[in-house]
Amino acid sequence: MPEPIQEAVARRRTFAIIAHPDAGKTTLTEKLLLFGGAIQLAGEVKAKKDKIQTRSDWMKIERERGISVVTSVMTFEYGDNVFNLLDTPGHEDFADDTYRTLSAVDSAVMVIDAAKGIEPRTLKLFEVCRLRDIPIVTFVNKMDREARNTFEILDEIEQKLALDTAPVTWPIGQGKTFSGTYHLSENAVRRSDAETERAKVNGPESDKVAGLLPENERDQLIEELELAREACRPFDLKAFREGHLTPVYFGSALRNFGVRDLIEGLGDYAPPPRDQEADTRTVHATEPKMTSFVFKIQANMDPNHRDRIAFVRVCSGTLERGMKAKLVRTGKPMSLSAPQFFFARSRITADEAFAGDVVGIPNHGTLRIGDTLTEGEEILFRGVPNFAPEILRRVRLGDAMKAKKLKEALHQMAEEGVVQLFSPEDGSPAIVGVVGALQLDVLKERLSVEYTLPVDFEMARFSVCRWISANDPAELQRFIEAHRGDIARDLDEDPVFLAQHEFGLNYEAERWKQIKFDAIKDYQ
Ligand code: GDP
Repeated sequence: MPEPIQEAVARRRTFAIIAHPDAGKTTLTEKLLLFGGAIQLAGEVKAKKDKIQTRSDWMKIERERGISVVTSVMTFEYGDNVFNLLDTPGHEDFADDTYRTLSAVDSAVMVIDAAKGIEPRTLKLFEVCRLRDIPIVTFVNKMDREARNTFEILDEIEQKLALDTAPVTWPIGQGKTFSGTYHLSENAVRRSDAETERAKVNGPESDKVAGLLPENERDQLIEELELAREACRPFDLKAFREGHLTPVYFGSALRNFGVRDLIEGLGDYAPPPRDQEADTRTVHATEPKMTSFVFKIQANMDPNHRDRIAFVRVCSGTLERGMKAKLVRTGKPMSLSAPQFFFARSRITADEAFAGDVVGIPNHGTLRIGDTLTEGEEILFRGVPNFAPEILRRVRLGDAMKAKKLKEALHQMAEEGVVQLFSPEDGSPAIVGVVGALQLDVLKERLSVEYTLPVDFEMARFSVCRWISANDPAELQRFIEAHRGDIARDLDEDPVFLAQHEFGLNYEAERWKQIKFDAIKDYQ
């Protein structure tokens, strides 16, 4: 019996982890997969990363710099739930990749270092989640080390993020004496993640709680727990789902504390796959017909096949192996003959996927970021964002004979989201744009390894780029004609205005009030 769609959707939780580098995202990911049965031994996420790296030359950059460039998706089950964890690159030069991934999740886990609190990148990523109304679950990690006072941590989250907090668990001790978590509303204790169940207790004064700590810390714990139960906000599902409140969990991913609390919390509270806005209507996750969109393209996952995997988030219906889908951008049919699910260790052919699931679709360049796939309906999902590049360069090629090859290669890289490509209206050579400088390194390396095109980059005359539009097409046309030398087209042929500097942009914006200059464009 196939699983009814309502049940399949209700079980799913699709989320990402946001964190400042070093807060413990990788370690937590490993533990989630470990407890979810997706891997046998912790350490395999890193091992897997290393393996991919050695298999793929261009990722040398990543290895040399010790950063994670790749976004991946990992599926695991825990209890009745199916979890899809979408990993995001840690380095901020790849922020646009992270933002696109956040367009495909229903909730996020914010990992905070218990000693450092809210760090700059956490704040930035949190703001992106808030803009998208993504509910946040907080995991305060590294409680096994010297940590701030628990109330202080909660206070910092409230102050810095303007977000209400509701501690679901409370740490029993901290640093060397950290010895478990207390579930505030259940009055139950888990000493470590080795225990699959929590033990019920009579309350903070129970010997089973205080007895876990050295004598001199017991009174303080009882006092704290009592205060927490009285003074802290209780968890409120509606406020959480609306993004006003975060449930907070404490633990140590490294030492196996609090991770099960977190997974169970995600299962209990995090939202199932949401309804998705399309251009003409809202698509409900439990509708029978399949709809989905591409939020990420990854090349070179397998060097034996020069394949590109498009990561597709299913929004409704059932995506079945072998089905014919319609690629709405081109109107052409596409056979989904080998959709794949990803686990920490392996990928397997996906026979069916439901809303919230992310499948990889191997293709040779048919799919682009932002594409919508349906069973025939003419709808387009919006909301996979494109950010105005902050660095613009011209690509200089040693061998002029290879100009055509370069053009094709750049086009492909742009479709994958590695760079953005702009073709100036005046016919001058294309300009590439990136959000972070490391993306240029990736481009250079890949052009060299995959296309044997050694290139350099030259400063372009421009440093600012904005998408332009106007309610009145004639006005837009007038602007374009008056600025021919500063207009280029992106991959979709949408016009952008290129300025030498911010001042030039502001000057034009003052003079041309009817023209809109956008720093973000949603892929369509
Ligand atoms: P990421 O950069 O956020 O992915 O962080 P990692 O998971 O790579 O962790 C950064 C460092 O913190 C590593 O040395 C981890 O071993 C360490 N770490 C992660 N979680 C914990 C924890 O709960 N306690 C302690 N003491 N160290 C941790």
